[in-house]
Amino acid sequence: MENKTADLNNKYETVIGLETHVELSTETKMFCGCKLSFGEKPNTYTCPVCLGHPGSLPVVNKKAIESAVKIALALNCSISEHSIFHRKNYFYPDMPKNYQISQYDLPVGVGGYIDINMGNYVRKVKITRVHVEEDTGKLIHIGSTGRISEADYSIVDFNRAGTPLIEIVTDPDIKSPEEAKQYMITLRNTLLMLNVSDCSMEEGSIRSDANVSVKLTTTDKLGTRTEIKNLNSFKFLQKGLEYEVERQIDVLESGREVLQQTRHYDNKTQTTKVLRQKEEAHDYRYFPDPDLVPMKILPDWINEIKSALPELPGAREKRYKNSLGLSDYDSAFMANDFEISSYFEETLKHHNNAKSVCNWIMGDFSAFINKNQVTLKESKISPENLADLVKMIDRQEINSKIAKSVFEEMYDSGESPQEIILKKGLKQISDTGELEAIINEVILKNPDAVSQYKSGKVKAIGFLVGRIMAKTQGKANPQIVNEIIVKKLS
Ligand code: ADP
Ligand code: MG
Ligand code: ZN
Repeated sequence: MENKTADLNNKYETVIGLETHVELSTETKMFCGCKLSFGEKPNTYTCPVCLGHPGSLPVVNKKAIESAVKIALALNCSISEHSIFHRKNYFYPDMPKNYQISQYDLPVGVGGYIDINMGNYVRKVKITRVHVEEDTGKLIHIGSTGRISEADYSIVDFNRAGTPLIEIVTDPDIKSPEEAKQYMITLRNTLLMLNVSDCSMEEGSIRSDANVSVKLTTTDKLGTRTEIKNLNSFKFLQKGLEYEVERQIDVLESGREVLQQTRHYDNKTQTTKVLRQKEEAHDYRYFPDPDLVPMKILPDWINEIKSALPELPGAREKRYKNSLGLSDYDSAFMANDFEISSYFEETLKHHNNAKSVCNWIMGDFSAFINKNQVTLKESKISPENLADLVKMIDRQEINSKIAKSVFEEMYDSGESPQEIILKKGLKQISDTGELEAIINEVILKNPDAVSQYKSGKVKAIGFLVGRIMAKTQGKANPQIVNEIIVKKLS
């Protein structure tokens, strides 16, 4: 069985292209002045424009276009100076106008790319287009399960209708489900750094449809693809694609043909099911929206936006490596997760030792967080408190053993390390007078170790230092202890 799978994996190659929708976090909707909302009473954030009333006219939200330009630039696209909106015509009850305002052949951005760090190689994924459109409303299915198939009836909530959406389409450059997942992670982090969307997977403010096909390794001709929907987590994206690749190979191996379909991923069964035979672009009867004038995106504005772009994950990773001296692995770890990276940056503002801060975040902190299934932000340890702890270790005011117990206490209570050290009397003893008394006692009680040291067994000193650390519950400053013993015994 395993051999068969391996043979088939050599015989076929996987080809994936992703279409990602991102809800922008602008104040207002794409073509009207309604505020964006989430989880509010249905149909309370609407107006004649987003309800599609006759005679109402759309007006473009400039902030949304600015976000689109930011995203396109971050993805290395060229910006189209001349860009227009099209109507995409179809019927669905969550869409009051019976068409969606979208972009077709003149999108805001084209011809970009993004580099995906796969650990031992980099996959360059070309970005076909970045375009602007509007979101639909939401159907709420009334019935015991909330699912459409078991609903008694459905109601429509138009609060989301008209929310600005950006669609980001890749070329079919992605070569495995794992690469697809990593692409999503990298794209999401990039968008978070740009501060254009909250990119919540649970709330659906970033969602991807995956187009996938398999082809014989021996040909360049792409196979027929299916488009998979409902991949609303990184894990589902990978799992859904893995299933679909296997299914398509089975179909081809049994002598049948893959049909161009839209399929739905069901996480319960971890399989995909046919939703509909795939529609083609011409089915939508795209035509330029006569209610909207063409957009001119002027070079001056583009340059202004470009010069205000924040540092992006790729540049950040390089800076961590080259200026902060972190290893390849550590730089990638610290730069490629928005939350970790923000936490790291914040901590460095209070204590500028990148290496030791990085070690704490990647070591003890990550271990605790993984164990307790929380995120850095949800933990009670503020970047400032972590900085203070690491500062005390770096200045040798506490040793690593005490640091660990202080850290645990910080994790539980959210208190500052200073408070905990004071409360528990954990401050390191660096006062030589106090230490000498303890050292004299230990020297007296351990004549064997002392004579071993004097006869040239340098290691015996470790034993003596160990006794002193034990006597002070780890509070003695080991370096000072060492110096004093050496002086006393020579
Ligand atoms: P549509 O507009 O009908 O969805 P597009 O041609 O714009 O179709 O392609 C949508 C996505 O499908 C893109 O991400 C593209 O890279 C991807 N794609 C196109 N052909 C294939 C293929 N044969 N296998 C896998 N993905 C493909
Ligand atoms: Mg599509
Ligand atoms: Zn409105």
